[in-house]
Amino acid sequence: MYTQNSKDAFLKAKKVIPGGVDSPVRAFKSVGGTPIFIKKGAGAYLIDVDDNKYIDFVQSWGPLIFGHCDKDIQKAVIKSVKKGLSFGAPTKVETKLAQEICSLFDEIDKIRFVSSGTEAVMSAIRLARGYTGRDDIVKFEGCYHGHSDSLLVQAGSGAVTFGTPSSPGVPADFTKHTLLAKYNDIKSVQECFKNSKNIACVIIEPIAGNMGLIPAEIEFLKELKEICEKNGALLIFDEVMSGFRASLEGATGLVGVKPDLITFGKVIGGGMPVGAFGGLEEIMDQLSPDGPVYQAGTLSGNPVAMNAGITALKKLIKNPDIYDELEEKAQTLMKGFRDEAKKVGIGLQTNVRGSMFGFFFNDKEVKNFDDALKSDTKMFAKFHKGMLERGFYFACSQFETGFVSTKIKDKHIEETIEAAAEVFKELV
Ligand SMILES: *Cc1c(COP(=O)(O)O)cnc(C)c1O
Repeated sequence: MYTQNSKDAFLKAKKVIPGGVDSPVRAFKSVGGTPIFIKKGAGAYLIDVDDNKYIDFVQSWGPLIFGHCDKDIQKAVIKSVKKGLSFGAPTKVETKLAQEICSLFDEIDKIRFVSSGTEAVMSAIRLARGYTGRDDIVKFEGCYHGHSDSLLVQAGSGAVTFGTPSSPGVPADFTKHTLLAKYNDIKSVQECFKNSKNIACVIIEPIAGNMGLIPAEIEFLKELKEICEKNGALLIFDEVMSGFRASLEGATGLVGVKPDLITFGKVIGGGMPVGAFGGLEEIMDQLSPDGPVYQAGTLSGNPVAMNAGITALKKLIKNPDIYDELEEKAQTLMKGFRDEAKKVGIGLQTNVRGSMFGFFFNDKEVKNFDDALKSDTKMFAKFHKGMLERGFYFACSQFETGFVSTKIKDKHIEETIEAAAEVFKELV
């Protein structure tokens, strides 16, 4: 495969952009090689600057549930652009998108739009702290909630501890209120509540997608809700990835557990930068200007992004069968991977939730971050390279989630399984 133009572009980028990328995972560090520079998207495909064509299972890391260049979203964006890019004043389309979301979720009376998932989560946490008058938060090892200071705490040694920051530049003082618990392990959460009477909220990805794909067990989420209620803490579902991806009502719709606040991003903007957080009126009314909890944004609720988002959302609401179709494709893909891997003696753990899929090179079931870390990342790197060379674009880390878009057809799935079968044979 000829990739010289990508290589040249990466060298140039590295001179003026740290690491050559604007978000670290794009740099292919964990799989080696140089990142592919993209020229354009077309339906199910990505086309790189050397004119190589790939079936895209990354979908811009989740947002593009309708694939690239969806005609309806394009039309809505162009129409909106012609009326002006931004006003810094309210527009009706914000209310329309808010109405659609509020009517989908019993637990959302009001919602506020921001420009990224990071911002949505950061603001939801501030709101939970403001509402409860408490400082501590509980997060789970391996869950990612954006790159804001107090959430940039990852795995400790597995012990339940007060978090230490996982990046220089984050003062320990900023993360001392972040308690860590183990995913799918209620005892670790009970431990946190024993250690602190000052817990404002527990935040969780109800379908974890940032340590590979690991859904939380329903019983665990029920117990989480109970323990939050009993202790007067809020439960926040971070559905930035799973929202409108796992189902129309995200994980919340699948698990039957009601969170107090939900955060969104990715699909909600239809490919444009949008995030949001919502909940019951009593909590949301604590936000300024009605309440004392400050939160703001120059480009929040940007009309072009809102028009992209509402177009995507309306298409999803109109065609609820989309999720079954996408899930069927994702299931077929993962079954194909599992079967082909098994034929050559490779253990593969797979998960599917709606249009989200994940696979671990691991002989044992993966239930938490520690399990995920035991996966064979070297084998994953080889798999990634083999698939890329054959024209299949997967996330460049063992610890990411894959996505199926509506532009991916059965023939694409078949081709992908055939290619994977070839690559698996090369791995052993
Ligand atoms: C992507 C993601 C974020 C961060 O969103 P950005 O738009 O990248 O800031 C937060 N939480 C979860 C669960 C995510 O998947």
